Amino acid sequence: MTDSKTKIFGVIGHPIEHSLSPVMHNAVFKEKKINADYFAFDVDDKNLGNAIYGADALKFCGLNVTIPHKISVMKYIDEISEEANLINAVNTIKFEKGIATGYNTDGIGAIKAIEKNLNECLKGKKIFVFGAGGAARAIIFSALLSDAEISIYNRTSEKAVLINNEINEKLNKGLKVVHLKNLRAELKDSDIIINATSVGMFPNVDKCAINEGDIPEGKVVMDIVYNPIETKFLEFAKKRNCKVIGGVDMLVEQGAEALKIWLNLEADENLTGIMRKAVIEKLIKKM
Ligand code: NAP
Repeated sequence: MTDSKTKIFGVIGHPIEHSLSPVMHNAVFKEKKINADYFAFDVDDKNLGNAIYGADALKFCGLNVTIPHKISVMKYIDEISEEANLINAVNTIKFEKGIATGYNTDGIGAIKAIEKNLNECLKGKKIFVFGAGGAARAIIFSALLSDAEISIYNRTSEKAVLINNEINEKLNKGLKVVHLKNLRAELKDSDIIINATSVGMFPNVDKCAINEGDIPEGKVVMDIVYNPIETKFLEFAKKRNCKVIGGVDMLVEQGAEALKIWLNLEADENLTGIMRKAVIEKLIKKM
């Protein structure tokens, strides 16, 4: 039951109908008896500013921002966190006392997912990232802030080089940009391998960023794609005796980080358990 005190949250993007965020956040509000509701809003480019100012005027408490607005939304926000500024993308907005503050929880969500699965921090770990899109950028910046070492391979190598240049400039650190001919050796030398491309995402579920035989035995392998729950990449990695981490873990952790920002909720096992259950039920229904 909503009333005049109900806290309003939502996600804006285009398209938005497949978003799992409403089901994930509303499950928390219901279980924890929080008087709040979370909606999905389809917002196109030309209405992005109106949507942000409107949400502020209507006293929304928070918004998530997804494709294609994570960068363009920044010009409508009053303050931006240090991490979101570095990543140059916002996926979470908090409205408070007339001020809209932008955050990025994608990168930290991925880091938390790995650290919780491994029960150790990423400091000094060698992480290999496939991809140089928005999600890869967030993960790379957050992993560097956690003092991990990064190698990156992207189909379009120029994009990987651009990220490296930006990191040199902003953090005075470097990445290893990997060429196809060195891929196998570099994977072997890594502790953690992450697919941060969209390869393998529904409906292209038989695709994988690499051949099964190129996955070294016994590594930690993460796929940030969450639909399907187990991607071809994770299926191959399991056969290669790797420890696997699915995209649902990152989705849940980035959502839990947003709840921490908005409502000061602790991202403990109980909270992430509620979120994971809701997401998995929804994904299974869709399959
Ligand atoms: P994006 O900015 O569009 O980047 C897409 C990346 O995938 C680029 O590196 C692109 O390479 C690569 N790619 C696409 N098709 C490819 C192909 N056929 N072969 C090789 N590389 C290919 O997308 P994004 O926002 O980073 O999202 C990437 C994926 O992560 C999506 O599936 C998204 O759903 C998922 N995601 C998950 C979470 C989570 O919480 N689990 C959060 C954010 C995103 P090029 O540069 O060569 O085009």
